[in-house]
Amino acid sequence: MKSPKPYRGRFAPSPTGPLHLGSMVAAVGSFLEARHRGGEWLLRMEDLDPPREAPGAAADILRTLEAFGLHWDGEVVYQSRRHALYEEALEKLRTRDALYACACSRREIADSSVSGVDGLVYPGTCRAGIAPGRAPRAWRVKVDGQKLEFSDAIQGSMVRDLAADFGDFVVRRADGFFAYQLAVVVDDAAQGITAIVRGADLIESTPRQIHLQRLLGLPTPEYLHLPVALNAQSEKLSKQTFAAPLDTANPLPTLLQVMRFLGQDVPVELIEGSIGDFWRWAVGNWDVGRVPRVAGMVVDTVGVSLSDANE
Ligand code: GLU
Repeated sequence: MKSPKPYRGRFAPSPTGPLHLGSMVAAVGSFLEARHRGGEWLLRMEDLDPPREAPGAAADILRTLEAFGLHWDGEVVYQSRRHALYEEALEKLRTRDALYACACSRREIADSSVSGVDGLVYPGTCRAGIAPGRAPRAWRVKVDGQKLEFSDAIQGSMVRDLAADFGDFVVRRADGFFAYQLAVVVDDAAQGITAIVRGADLIESTPRQIHLQRLLGLPTPEYLHLPVALNAQSEKLSKQTFAAPLDTANPLPTLLQVMRFLGQDVPVELIEGSIGDFWRWAVGNWDVGRVPRVAGMVVDTVGVSLSDANE
């Protein structure tokens, strides 16, 4: 009998700013799931979108992960150095007649599209070729009318109609940059990732990614989408909602807060110990079954402090 592939997980931040509590939930969840299962945990910097990136953010993210004791395996992979691989994948899609150039402007798309589950559903205007005199802008991958079903270890099973819910989607943008959907699929396969643990804000990307995996002949990993951390206004914690950067001088209160957010029954005394003690407990006792099966939750802003341990 073939033995199952060894577990390999990853954390794939975009360097648009410093890590905050919301990104730390994905980092800790993916790390613990990997380590608890005796697997590897890789780090990939998704620096694919220079206009959205903040100078120094990638280095800052690495320093924060180190300060939090989140040690990754192997070398950090930078998407900005992997354009040749994405180009190759586009070429493969082209030879399979799954790719086409799109000449539509943002305005034309907004005027001709209906809303889907995650943005506009492109009506396929350029599918049969672009109109004479028009220049290609973006590149899109074709979807078909089939229903795509997958099962998420936390959020349960999900069925999406690719054509009705997303439409033909962009794999190379009008500004020339490769789209997240393409790069993530290429890299997860190239890095041999067996399980993807990330925030539920990305769950609607999963059907598109599975579609690309099938077109490119790549394996589909396991998926586990964690609840997203929301602020008191029920907005996702992010740079746009002014989520506070993490305190790297004092990581334990944040780590305990993240563990509680993820439903883990973490002993509050750990806050008085070392980072090493914390991770020994966390890796040994991580129980994915305790993670709340919801897409988002408001973060308990009271947090955990030393006084809790002395109560
Ligand atoms: N780079 C993406 C983000 O920071 C995450 C991609 C993923 O985990 O698939 O939102």
